[in-house]
Amino acid sequence: MVNVTDLQIDLFGSLNSLKNSVSGWFQNKNPEKNISPEFSPESLVSFRYNPRLKKSIRCQYNGLFGHPLVTLPAYMRNDDFALVRELISQWAELSQKRKTAKTKASTKELLERIWAATDQVLSDRGEKILESRGHFPPIRSKGKIHDLEQVLAAVNETYFKGELSCRITWSNRLGGMSFHTVRKDPYTKEPVHLISISQGYDSDNCPLYAVAGVVYHECLHIAIPPKIVGGRRSVHGRNFRQCEKRYIYYEEWMCWHREVLPKNIHSLRRIKKGLSQKKI
Ligand SMILES: [Zn+2]
Repeated sequence: MVNVTDLQIDLFGSLNSLKNSVSGWFQNKNPEKNISPEFSPESLVSFRYNPRLKKSIRCQYNGLFGHPLVTLPAYMRNDDFALVRELISQWAELSQKRKTAKTKASTKELLERIWAATDQVLSDRGEKILESRGHFPPIRSKGKIHDLEQVLAAVNETYFKGELSCRITWSNRLGGMSFHTVRKDPYTKEPVHLISISQGYDSDNCPLYAVAGVVYHECLHIAIPPKIVGGRRSVHGRNFRQCEKRYIYYEEWMCWHREVLPKNIHSLRRIKKGLSQKKI
């Protein structure tokens, strides 16, 4: 994760150099207003910053004279996020409009651009990006103990009528967690759902019902995509949690997940630490 405090530098830095490169944002007559990252002069969207936010934006509409009041992660206060803030103000205004298929599609597209641009700014600065978008990692589904392809096929058949289309791999990071992302296929350039499962599950103390449980959970993220509720991404909403409990070994999996997985991850991280110390 990005260390937010590291990013809170240079708050009112070299804005003038950006004046010509960001159209719209700086075309205000009052130059004083131009350098305020608290306000978008074009759109009357006002901004607040919260250091606890990492990858979410919150939007209220009861702010300044009924205009959108958007809360952003604190690192976005910096001037190299001017373009990102401009996209965010467009997003906030669009989210206010009546929900039609068209506005929904544009809202989604804007959000994708916002996070892609955020990753771009962070990587330009040499910061760790929030998520490795687009990059397709090597796929390794056969583990030491469990074969994820087989588990996925069984879960897909049992709970999704075999209709889910996705790739699955063991996490490439030792001690990493399980997650689902959308990546671009390197050949077809089509978006592909990719499930990555923590290596903590590839252990002889891990029963099949536990690895199937986490695969089912990640598959549900494809079937029930995150929703934007009040500017925040709702990932594990009520519907998600209800569906999750349909898994026949839900209780057993949760019990294993709570009690055994943290120990397995802990020992994997110790192995990793040992490996990196050896390198030194
Ligand atoms: Zn989840």
